[in-house]
Amino acid sequence: MADNGVPEAQRVVVVPDVGWPDPVGLPGGVASELPNQLLSARLGQGAPGSDVSRGTTAVGWPSAQEPPGTPPGSAVASGGVVDARLPVPARTRVMAVTNQKGGVGKTTTAVNLAAALAHGGQRVLVVDLDPQGNASTALSIEHAEGTPGVYEVIVGGSPIRDVVRTSPEVEGLEVLPASIDLAGAEIDLVSLVARESRLSRALDVYLAEQKEAGRRLDYVFVDCPPSLGLLTVNALVAGREILIPIQCEYYALEGVGQLLRTVEMVRTHLNPDLVVSTIVLTMHDARTRLSSGVAEEVRAHFPNQVLRTAIPRSVRISEAPSYGQTVLTYDPGSSGALSYLEAAREMATRGTAAGTPDGVTP
Ligand code: ADP
Ligand code: MG
Repeated sequence: MADNGVPEAQRVVVVPDVGWPDPVGLPGGVASELPNQLLSARLGQGAPGSDVSRGTTAVGWPSAQEPPGTPPGSAVASGGVVDARLPVPARTRVMAVTNQKGGVGKTTTAVNLAAALAHGGQRVLVVDLDPQGNASTALSIEHAEGTPGVYEVIVGGSPIRDVVRTSPEVEGLEVLPASIDLAGAEIDLVSLVARESRLSRALDVYLAEQKEAGRRLDYVFVDCPPSLGLLTVNALVAGREILIPIQCEYYALEGVGQLLRTVEMVRTHLNPDLVVSTIVLTMHDARTRLSSGVAEEVRAHFPNQVLRTAIPRSVRISEAPSYGQTVLTYDPGSSGALSYLEAAREMATRGTAAGTPDGVTP
């Protein structure tokens, strides 16, 4: 563990004393420090290979050399806009965006990555699985009480095609909205048949329908609530990949061990293909040693999962939802927008570069 100037007392804060996954692929020194008896959740890198590109829409994609955090607009102004096409994955990547801590950037990451990928020519569905409906709000999708959405799908058995909406803001982006009605789902699900796989089944049907109609979806992001209840389990069963946003703050990794134990349980009993493929560092403040220290710790523990691109703390990112927008349209040249674009590109390309088909770290 590199000493980056963060006092020991602070550094230990970000290392949880709970179970860590099987430290496959971790540096020897780090691996030997981690308890591995609690978990054997395989951590994956990237996703199924990708080799095709699809057309795109014009947004200010930063050049590959340009680090996030570059002054707003510079990528555009300097002529740094580069080929925005992203490789299309070999098959639909269904990603559960989860971390049972609230306020770590799950929703923000789900909607902005989804929008960035859609701008890159991908067909993307966002499933809002949080009764607060923040992802629906951010994407400008009606979700007042009584609005049909994901509740009707997982509890009522409605087909997704009947309730899915098209984003008015971003071409290629669909949203399965959540209203406050979803708050009752945790209880309503308990007595239902196949209660853990309701979303998975509905999604399989929808993905097959879309594929048949020549509109194959490339990505599905499931924005989870801040808990490890049945809704989140539904997301973990529906997804093949897990994306964990981790906030660059005190107690960043608190609860991650518990999340990974849940993942392992789901892998064992319900979804053997599930891998933690992606970790996104959020609200990174390069000016503080704490933020950098946390980022370093997380990278040390998950060297193959953490995206190189960290999302900076940015007022623009937090303002965008109140205008029903993602940061990509709210302030396309901002560091927040550029970092989500870069993170999306990294996600889209790393599967080809290093990932093995089942996502296991070599
Ligand atoms: P979660 O879905 O995990 O509860 P959110 O995505 O809703 O977390 O984010 C929590 C709060 O932090 C929101 O107010 C959001 O606008 C803000 N936020 C998220 N990411 C950033 C960021 N990079 N910079 C500044 N504020 C952020
Ligand atoms: Mg949220």
